[in-house]
Amino acid sequence: VTSGRAADVAIVGGGVIGLALARELAGRGRRVVVLERGETAQEASWAAAGLLSAQSDVGVPGAFFDLAIESRALYPAWASDLEAETGEAVGYRATGLVRCAFDAGESEALRGFLWQRERGLPLEWWDAPVLAARFGGALSPDVRSGLFFPEEGVVDPRKLTRARGVSVRVRGVEVRSRTAARRFWIEDGRCLGVETEGGRLAADAVVDAAGAWAAFDRELPFAVPVEPVRGQIVELDLGGSAPDTVVHSEAVYLAPQGGGRVLVGSTLERAGFARVVTAGALGALLESAARLWPAVRTARFVTAWAGLRPGTPDGLPILGDCGIRGLYFAAGHFRNGILLAPVTARKIADLLTGGAASPDLASFRVGRFRSGRAGPSPVSGPGVFR
Ligand SMILES: Cc1cc2nc3c(=O)[nH]c(=O)nc-3n(C[C@H](O)[C@H](O)[C@H](O)COP(=O)(O)OP(=O)(O)OC[C@H]3O[C@@H](n4cnc5c(N)ncnc54)[C@H](O)[C@@H]3O)c2cc1C
Repeated sequence: VTSGRAADVAIVGGGVIGLALARELAGRGRRVVVLERGETAQEASWAAAGLLSAQSDVGVPGAFFDLAIESRALYPAWASDLEAETGEAVGYRATGLVRCAFDAGESEALRGFLWQRERGLPLEWWDAPVLAARFGGALSPDVRSGLFFPEEGVVDPRKLTRARGVSVRVRGVEVRSRTAARRFWIEDGRCLGVETEGGRLAADAVVDAAGAWAAFDRELPFAVPVEPVRGQIVELDLGGSAPDTVVHSEAVYLAPQGGGRVLVGSTLERAGFARVVTAGALGALLESAARLWPAVRTARFVTAWAGLRPGTPDGLPILGDCGIRGLYFAAGHFRNGILLAPVTARKIADLLTGGAASPDLASFRVGRFRSGRAGPSPVSGPGVFR
């Protein structure tokens, strides 16, 4: 059974990545269908803190760093276009971000970011007197140095995906909620569409943007080593004691959301698909946060949640074509999917509408995992993920 009209592009997954790509493609005149197993934007993209940390998270030069910087640069216009189109605010703010060091070892690790100056990227070294002048007594006096990244920012992921949902509907994208893709429809080495419980959807191109579930088709002739990495977040109301910039230690970050609200995140846990909040994680997050920003101890607890990041063995996303004609990936964005949504949408849309793979996607193709049909690579011990 073939259900409905054929699409130019079928996208599996209605998170920030699938919706951003759908919007971009519809803006280029393509007929797009998004298949979403549940409701759109209820998984990782709902759970994210919304840090746009390109310089302060990646740290090492290379294709991934370049991708992150390119995406951050797209953000201001991307956010304001979306707001103008939908009338919905998305909470984008260039707050800056300070990474804090408690001891000589952590200070030394911060020096590892200083190469970015040679790239013309702004950073400021803040020693203890500068930190005291900037934050008064709000920051722990135990912090001995900091590195400030003035161009980092935040967005509100829930507002962002809600606006994106409005935008794709305005642009004529068909979003099929409660419609799970069961497998890709592949014949003679070509992907012809997607098989769902309601039948087949024919499409000229299919994009797997299914987040932590991107390996849902176990019959593909290659492994898609994406697996869930749980993150937990606590929301606090710090009132007038909230920081006005993102404050980050080795262990934790405080991300201001406006109105005194602060998100404290996040854990990195390999616990399968169990999207639960645990007492131990909340205790550890709050303890680390209070060590950095003592007012946390008297903050009002608002809520807490968990989400599943789409992790890959090398911590890098899976982008582009895969050797099966008509099948593409936009998955595995791990800790940076909110940041990387604009650049992913643009580059995958370029690939689908222009035909040629952009050379800067080469290092992100799924073909880099040449482990045969063994399934997702086992992830062993801490440190495998950045
Ligand atoms: C606690 C936490 C904090 C984070 N903080 C940040 C941050 O500060 N900055 C940042 O940039 N990133 C952050 N991230 C990472 C970011 O959330 C993810 O990288 C991003 O949301 C991934 O988007 P996605 O669209 O690929 O996945 P998702 O949002 O998970 O969307 C995938 C969608 O696919 C659907 N789906 C799955 N299987 C099927 C199927 N078979 N058929 C149809 N639909 C299917 C799912 O229901 C889901 O809606 C954080 C993540 C977590 C969990």
